[in-house]
Amino acid sequence: MRESRILLLADPVIDKIAAGEVIERPSSVLKELLENAIDAGATSLRIELEEGGRKKILVTDDGSGMHAEDVPLAVKRHATSKLRTSEDLFCISSMGFRGEALASIASISHFSLLSRRVEAQEGIKLETVGNENPSIYTRPAPVGTTIQVQDLFFNVPVREKFLKSAQVEYASCFELVQSQALSNPHISFTLFHNGKEKISWPRISSEPETGPIAESTLRKRVQQVLTSQEAGSFLYVHEENQYGCFFGLVSPPGVEKATQKNMWTFVNSRWVKDKTIRYGMLRGYHSHLLKGQYPQVVGFFTCEPSLVDVNVHPTKAELRFQYAAEVQSLLATGIRKALRSAHWAEEPQAVSHTPASHMPSFSASSMQQTSRNVSVDALETSSFGAKETRSFTFAPLRMGASKAPAGMSAPSFLPVKEAPASILDWDQFLFQGSWFDCYLIFSDETRVLMIDQHAFHERILYEKYLQDPTLYSLCQPLLIPHLIAFSPEEVALFAENQAQLASYGCTYGILEGKGIEVTGVPPLLRRQQFDTLFASLLQEVRNHPHESGMPATLHHQVLATLACHSAVRAGEKLEESHVHRLKQEAQGVDFVHNCPHGRRVFKWFNRSEVEGWFDRT
Ligand code: ADP
Ligand code: MG
Repeated sequence: MRESRILLLADPVIDKIAAGEVIERPSSVLKELLENAIDAGATSLRIELEEGGRKKILVTDDGSGMHAEDVPLAVKRHATSKLRTSEDLFCISSMGFRGEALASIASISHFSLLSRRVEAQEGIKLETVGNENPSIYTRPAPVGTTIQVQDLFFNVPVREKFLKSAQVEYASCFELVQSQALSNPHISFTLFHNGKEKISWPRISSEPETGPIAESTLRKRVQQVLTSQEAGSFLYVHEENQYGCFFGLVSPPGVEKATQKNMWTFVNSRWVKDKTIRYGMLRGYHSHLLKGQYPQVVGFFTCEPSLVDVNVHPTKAELRFQYAAEVQSLLATGIRKALRSAHWAEEPQAVSHTPASHMPSFSASSMQQTSRNVSVDALETSSFGAKETRSFTFAPLRMGASKAPAGMSAPSFLPVKEAPASILDWDQFLFQGSWFDCYLIFSDETRVLMIDQHAFHERILYEKYLQDPTLYSLCQPLLIPHLIAFSPEEVALFAENQAQLASYGCTYGILEGKGIEVTGVPPLLRRQQFDTLFASLLQEVRNHPHESGMPATLHHQVLATLACHSAVRAGEKLEESHVHRLKQEAQGVDFVHNCPHGRRVFKWFNRSEVEGWFDRT
């Protein structure tokens, strides 16, 4: 048996242990190399990968380069030029700071580094296998740094076994490059895989931005980097207060995905997958997304470095915020404002209806254009069946635009004078009838508009509730109390929330252990809906207990629940006069794309599309 005495481990062993935490796979190496290059002020990055980075990862930058005497230090543990005192740890503005990345990487690979500063005659080259006895010599080199990492994990077979196929590792590297490109539009990126060029993204701006990335810059970079066809419809957000600044591009409802993969989030330029940040953004989308659906976001939160601790996670992907709740509110508010300004019930119009000059096609260059254009394939929700790629404009649908509050009439990047003249005037729409007692059909000269009557009414009511709290806070007493049976635990929850629900016009007495006795409801509520309404309210208060402190979400949920239970149902036969009243009410509401639970309200069919069905085009 080995003698159990304590010994200090040798450096290469310690490096390997550190590498185990930070370097999980080729993309982790790439991340460290790219971050170092960005910290060194690079404006152009060339990346070469072989076999998804398993065989080779090479990064060349045109940054500051290293002093000759620093080169041997760079591969030493805890050697960094970015941190001097432990106080510095709490105000980090560089990407790296721990000074362990190169040491770790060198300890588990065949590693070489070539670097030259502008004032140096020659470059310095360092080569090592497993970070033991590095050899160092001078060599001619361009200004900047090239680091090459070959045969990753050659001496850690356990790790190597866990690597995925070259294809999967490549995908992870690609995603990493995307993230760095999104947050650094002032840097050009080229990427080669197995000798083939995969990416060539020229820089968009010449300087790293000091404040928020300008909208046009970000749009162009997003267009280069993301394959999302819907990117053209994204809305620019910019919201700031004393806790920080949130800016970015966010998708309007209608182009969400069933995965969070398209939520690119950054904190102080660092790509993060942080729950606080994601949750804040999702709160902004509250009532616009169905369960399990996620928006597409390229969102940046920046704040004083001292307000966020990046040193809590080995790869810095999760953070600790000093003001988490305030940060979330900032994100949610920014998104809500952007959505609110958009009026995006998409009303696609064929090119032929608009002069060509107003209809730039969906290309990188058109991203600066102020109209939000998408190619036909991009409108996954569009009903257009055309084969060729045509351009459509997301025409802002503005119900009763004249009544819309000042400043809410158009998104900030859509100058009013350039907005296509397609404001929906309800008076022009003839009611053609309803289908299955569920879908209302309207038409004008060129379009058919199909509306889900329940979702439509629900959205109208929800907006009315938001605008006018007396609509729900005024309680309409019932002549005869309405009894509803609940389990003792449920009754207890009702008792606990009695005052809160009373502020929404829902009053009741408690029948200890048996149920409740409803004594009043908001005036718009429909009588037959009492039982399901109170069951839904119970569900909401259960999901949002007081302690978790999310009154804003609960408030929206309760209003959405009230709206849902006051709205006409699917399957309900509506008199024509009722439909006309709905049309009237819609004039006063400026936000009608989704019902508050996120369901679709409208579907358009253009005449040209319908004609296409019958080969008349
Ligand atoms: P950290 O980035 O945490 O400081 P690293 O191990 O990643 O630690 O790098 C160590 C040091 O090597 C850095 O502090 C920096 O001075 C230098 N360095 C690494 N890569 C580059 C590069 N591409 N250009 C210039 N200097 C670099
Ligand atoms: Mg580093």
